[in-house]
Amino acid sequence: MMYYVCRCQILHHFLCLMWLFLRADPKSYPLPVELQERIYRYLPLRDLISLSAIPNLKDDMEKHLEARILRLLVSFRLKGKDTLDMMRSTGTVVSGSAALEIVSPGSCEPRDLNLYCPAGSAQGAIRMILGLDGFVESPYPLKTLLAERTPFSRFEVNNGIKRLYRFVHLPSSKVVTLAESISTSSVAPVLFFHSTLLMNYVSGSGVVSFYPELTYDNLGLLNYSQHFDELHKPGVLDRWEHVGMDICHDCRDWHQDHPSLSPSARRGMCQWAYRQTNDEWTDRMDFRTGQRKRLGPILAWRLGHVYKGRKDVMYHKTSVHLVHEEWFKLCLYKTAVEWVRYYAPIDSATGEIDSANWKRSFPQ
Ligand SMILES: [Zn+2]
Repeated sequence: MMYYVCRCQILHHFLCLMWLFLRADPKSYPLPVELQERIYRYLPLRDLISLSAIPNLKDDMEKHLEARILRLLVSFRLKGKDTLDMMRSTGTVVSGSAALEIVSPGSCEPRDLNLYCPAGSAQGAIRMILGLDGFVESPYPLKTLLAERTPFSRFEVNNGIKRLYRFVHLPSSKVVTLAESISTSSVAPVLFFHSTLLMNYVSGSGVVSFYPELTYDNLGLLNYSQHFDELHKPGVLDRWEHVGMDICHDCRDWHQDHPSLSPSARRGMCQWAYRQTNDEWTDRMDFRTGQRKRLGPILAWRLGHVYKGRKDVMYHKTSVHLVHEEWFKLCLYKTAVEWVRYYAPIDSATGEIDSANWKRSFPQ
């Protein structure tokens, strides 16, 4: 499989260069449109961004990116255009392996389609999906609970997810899940994923990759947690090895001086780095310019990691908070607690809440 991935990458770079060379002479224009489209399909997001900087290619690239997303949605039996309209109006995004496949084609075969919507906005997606022939809701037995959270780590309750909905397209057995965020940002749960490889999303008007350089190289950083096995499904990391991708558990293996300490260094390569959802280390491309809807507030995050000093070891869990809440102020108030509502899955055999299942809330 690793051979397949590497070969694919070499091939698409070669095809990209060949295509640019051929198209350099617009009078001859020797490549048929269908072949151009076939070549585009191999290109990762960064190549599309580079090509769209060439004025006469911008439209082609935006159309291609939208078509790539429409194909994905249709492959899960959704109506492509209607789904994009719903995503735009409700702030819903696609993430997980399906978004990775959009950012880096050939990287994985998405099994399910995972949608994420802001808190209180689930009805738009539910109505649209259940209005399609063949879809039924496959409900989880749930219990409403209140959980406490601190301003210091506002979104960590249940990994940023308030409630999960699951839909099955009966004729094809395709599964679409909808995760309602605990925040007015649909992106909050994405920042709790187990690896940076999955920290990409598709909105109704564009595509974003938070760790592009690593992702294009089939590398990911682990979003470390001391309680990793409680938060994520067993064997969740093995999947990446099988498709030829590596996940780095500790960025000290890559560098001793963490770039988080320097404003100019490559923060997209470091678990210690403080990041923001609108920062310059993110790759983004819109296919509908001028229509970008803000997906809730701008968030700041830092990946979970281990700090090993000379004498002690400190474990830092994933931290996600609103960007305007400055770190030092949060530290002052970190004893304060607020209560939030979430929906915990119940074990159908015992009728009890299984805390491991509750915390393991990610659809993938
Ligand atoms: Zn580092």
